[in-house]
Amino acid sequence: MSERLGPPLGAPLFDRLALIGVGLIGSSIARAARRKNLARVVVIADESAEARERATALKLGDEVVADAAEAAADADLVILCVPVGADEAVARAIAPKLKAGAIVSDVGSVKSAVIAAVGPHLPTGVALVPAHPVAGTEQSGPDAGFATLFVNRWCILTPAADVDPAAIAKVRAFWEALGSNVETMNAAHHDLVLAITSHVPHLIAYNIVGTASDLEETTRSEVIKFSAGGFRDFTRIAASDPTMWRDVFLNNKHAVLEALGRFSEDLTALQRMIRYGDGDGLFALFARTRAIRRGIVEMGQETAAPDFGRRHDEDGDGGK
Ligand code: NAP
Repeated sequence: MSERLGPPLGAPLFDRLALIGVGLIGSSIARAARRKNLARVVVIADESAEARERATALKLGDEVVADAAEAAADADLVILCVPVGADEAVARAIAPKLKAGAIVSDVGSVKSAVIAAVGPHLPTGVALVPAHPVAGTEQSGPDAGFATLFVNRWCILTPAADVDPAAIAKVRAFWEALGSNVETMNAAHHDLVLAITSHVPHLIAYNIVGTASDLEETTRSEVIKFSAGGFRDFTRIAASDPTMWRDVFLNNKHAVLEALGRFSEDLTALQRMIRYGDGDGLFALFARTRAIRRGIVEMGQETAAPDFGRRHDEDGDGGK
């Protein structure tokens, strides 16, 4: 599956793009936006001096500043690329500087809580078009990003019903230019779907790796020594950024608890099958889940090749 960005646009979609937060996601957007000519000027803000230093060295933006409000001033599109727990503070800081007609978006992994946190701070005439690129890795920081991260991945937009359709169309065009397949849905539905497909799987990975490491000292070394594909993949997921994932669980509490409740019931059913030797029941479930995996591969969301790490640089150019 070759993932390429394609040629730059003849004319930029936006004059001034501000990215607040230049970690894995912000830096990937910066790389891709520059390469695709999506904005005449790309301005980056990050509160971390180290991240700013790396962003400057990597030439990720035309300007790299500490102050989010300074970056957002006069921007046509502002994308919040910070952990979702920081979105409200950023929205409050940038609001007085936003120009009429500006679009504010984000990349947060939860949507209802972000809309509730950001929306009330935005002045009239500024459109909020939340987005969630369903793409990522367990890495963080400016060096972890790469331009093709979003190619052939979903990006879900969750604008409220009364948002200007022209603003939604511009954000859609932006993500399509980054190579994403864009879908629009309501924020509550997004949060429920992502709770089961992303948030709970991460929680399970954190839990199983935590349980294994809580075992006796000798067992711990055995775990590492004999870690097979399945466990190794869990450790990869459980290496994901602690701040980001803490914020996801605190901000998608209800949907995650609902999904976890169902998960626990199904786990109990599996426990019973093992206890009572119900091989047919186990086989039927495993056959069904194998078919689901095949479906995901067929939809182009994954390759069939064994891939215990994630691919980082599809086009072999160092991710520039
Ligand atoms: P990241 O690599 O940790 O980068 C976040 C950056 O934002 C860091 O440099 C951080 O600085 C900075 N920051 C934090 N608070 C800030 C503030 N108030 N003002 C300015 N900068 C601030 O995170 P990421 O993985 O790119 O995730 C960013 C967002 O993308 C999250 O909302 C996450 O839910 C979403 N997302 C992530 C993935 C994924 O796989 N990682 C996928 C889809 C969506 P410090 O280091 O000093 O905190």
